[in-house]
Amino acid sequence: MKSDWTKKFSSLAERTSPPEISWLMAQALEVPGLISLAAGFVDQQSLPSAAASGIIQEMLDDVKAGRDPLQYGTTQGDLELRRDLNQRLHAEGVFHPSAGIDESHFLISSGSQQALYLTAEALLDEGDIVLLEAPTYFVVLGAFESRGARTIGIDTDKDGIVPEKLEDCLAQLEREGLLPRVKMLYLMTYSTNPMGISLAEERRKQVFDLLRSYRDKGSPILLIEDAAYRRLCFDGPELAPLKSLEEDNDFVLYTESFSKSLSPGLRLGFGVGPKALIDKMVDLKGTHDFGSSNFGQQILKRFLRSGAFDEHTDHLKAIYKRKRDVALAIFESTFPSDVKWLRPIGAFYIWTQLPPDCDTGADSVLFKKALEERVLYVPGALCYSHDRPESKRSSELRLAFGMIEEEILREGCERLARAVNAVF
Ligand code: PMP
Repeated sequence: MKSDWTKKFSSLAERTSPPEISWLMAQALEVPGLISLAAGFVDQQSLPSAAASGIIQEMLDDVKAGRDPLQYGTTQGDLELRRDLNQRLHAEGVFHPSAGIDESHFLISSGSQQALYLTAEALLDEGDIVLLEAPTYFVVLGAFESRGARTIGIDTDKDGIVPEKLEDCLAQLEREGLLPRVKMLYLMTYSTNPMGISLAEERRKQVFDLLRSYRDKGSPILLIEDAAYRRLCFDGPELAPLKSLEEDNDFVLYTESFSKSLSPGLRLGFGVGPKALIDKMVDLKGTHDFGSSNFGQQILKRFLRSGAFDEHTDHLKAIYKRKRDVALAIFESTFPSDVKWLRPIGAFYIWTQLPPDCDTGADSVLFKKALEERVLYVPGALCYSHDRPESKRSSELRLAFGMIEEEILREGCERLARAVNAVF
């Protein structure tokens, strides 16, 4: 008799379903000739293979020294890399000068996804509460929900999370006696996924002050500031991170990723925050992998030191800005006039609104029609936590233009427009 392992799964495993994106990606492989406007992949042509080749060759040319990057590193991450990042972020004004942040407050992670997951692992028990934007970065929902946490979506508009809604939600939870269960607020502050907008300047201070007031009255809530797309903002004013408002490195965990700004293949990101939390995350990471790829970190360090990283992000901003303009021009010329969208100020997602009676869900007639037309999008419903009505039915969709070239993008939009017109 064969074993039925599904009966032996842990409660964590039971709560962990495959990210919906995996299902979407599988579709992309199964339908021949499908154009994916779904995947958040980066521009293929600009991936810095030539620069990486030079760096790797230099690293390994000296056979003796070349052994070091091939050895294990440390769990917390390469010390020099953490020092470099600390210096860089100080220079960029990410930290308040009196916050006293140094390399010991950094953890290098396997993608910023791992930093987010480790935070969840460090802080969340079953029944704890995480507040986040509605809509939000959908993969992070799984990280929180697999820990048994309840996620609550807070209204957003074109300027990001609405502070008054956040305030109301916290006041309501307090009245219900649930404040001790509220462990974190997860917020993207730059060119969010999926909306492509940044949290407006005045709201930054409002959100920060609100969370500080809870801290000051003895109910600390961790503010996770996910700045994955900070280096890819090409429009709009320079905005200071929430982390820079914090004088004492006490309740803000700032995370960044090198996936979009350099190479997702490196799988590197980092978190920087309060020492006790970072130390615990290091302990937890030790049980996962004893450290992210040392080889990758040595490459990253050289990219940062040589100036190639900054050159690359400048180049990427120009590329995505041009692609954004091309994409929006194609949208204008291909979509019916009742399709609306937000104008992204960075990166490569376009949050698109179909007329309210259009259901864009994975079981919807539109989704099936789109697959028949051989085009894939991310249904808006996936980007909402389960407490939100939009998680059941949404007329929004997330479209991504990062990887695809202009002609394919045009063809993809035309297919989608045909599907929309056929269904509504
Ligand atoms: N945060 C946001 C907002 C993202 O969109 C992503 C990936 N798309 C991540 C974090 C995680 O990315 P990675 O693990 O590649 O750093």
